[in-house]
Amino acid sequence: MADKGKEIRVTRSFMPPFEEYTAMLKKLWESRWLTNMGDYHQELERQLKKYLNVDCLTLFANGHLALETIIQAMELTGEIITTPFTFVSTTHAITRNHLKPVFCDIRPDDFTLDHRLIEDLITPETSAILAVHVYGNPCHVKEIEEIGRRHGLKVIYDAAHAFGEELDGKSLAAFGDASMLSFHATKVFHTIEGGAVCYGNPALGYLLDGLKNFGIIDEETIELVGGNGKMNEFQAAMGLCNLNYIEQEIEKRRAVVLNYEQRLKGVEGIRLSPEVPGLKRNYAYFPVIFDGYRLSRDQVFDRLAKAGIHARKYFYPCINACGCYAKAYDPADTPVALAVSKQVLTLPVFAQLEQETVNEICDLILL
Ligand SMILES: *Cc1c(COP(=O)(O)O)cnc(C)c1O
Repeated sequence: MADKGKEIRVTRSFMPPFEEYTAMLKKLWESRWLTNMGDYHQELERQLKKYLNVDCLTLFANGHLALETIIQAMELTGEIITTPFTFVSTTHAITRNHLKPVFCDIRPDDFTLDHRLIEDLITPETSAILAVHVYGNPCHVKEIEEIGRRHGLKVIYDAAHAFGEELDGKSLAAFGDASMLSFHATKVFHTIEGGAVCYGNPALGYLLDGLKNFGIIDEETIELVGGNGKMNEFQAAMGLCNLNYIEQEIEKRRAVVLNYEQRLKGVEGIRLSPEVPGLKRNYAYFPVIFDGYRLSRDQVFDRLAKAGIHARKYFYPCINACGCYAKAYDPADTPVALAVSKQVLTLPVFAQLEQETVNEICDLILL
């Protein structure tokens, strides 16, 4: 049993060795170049492009701004078809660009956008599809790409959960017209706060680079109405340190997730994410669906909480039931997302989570 008073959170940020980070900071005290695409920023873009195997990558101060800026750069209009089963950031990025999110229901097996329902939602106003590789489960990328091509729609992925994942040997961040990554402290790879856009068309890079820096092209040329989305050198240095440990980090997470799977797979009334052939996983999250289990999701949540284990009802409520969207939408229009949001519990996953604690969590669920 866990020590009394020991609190287990759903995630725990990776920290590189303290000395490795502070050694990098020394250079900043010498150069006094603290932000505005300094050496660490450039080096991190270079290393991430290589690690993720993508053609182009632009860093941002955070993932949300990266997503907002993709939408601005693409000059999207009208409506964007998206999922209601995600972190609010995905939807807010659309709304804050003064566009209308149109919610498409999700697949019951992997919780990603159900591509079979997309075409019915396309109107003359539709300009893009914004899908999410939720929990690192890959969207049906080939089918979505085909729909995008057929209807002349841009395809954007919120790949905040999919860092480092590959499908049939291709980086998940390389699908669609652009993918957003989040490097928030709670993600598998982090820069404290941070994010990036991955894309194939260099012309988009010109716009992203400009828009994240007030639209400044050079000292006397302001071509775009941009904001400030620059990643600073302290963030980039953290990223460079953390990137050295990413494989190790994912390997440790893998052990945790396999442990959970061993205990919970095949239990009646419990569903896990499906195994996807050809997927290199990052083991970022471990969602469990309680569907016809003798305990409800909320009962499991409470039982764990009493033992000091803080699982997350992630994602609940679904977006079209959230206060700021509830007036304009009816969550009953996306029944699968609505049901899953009430059945899902995301269990703690981080590299140092001990096998004993995983077992204790499973015992609490199963006993
Ligand atoms: C974390 C996250 C974001 C936002 O990223 P930030 O870097 O925190 O701004 C967006 N979408 C999803 C699905 C996320 O999990």
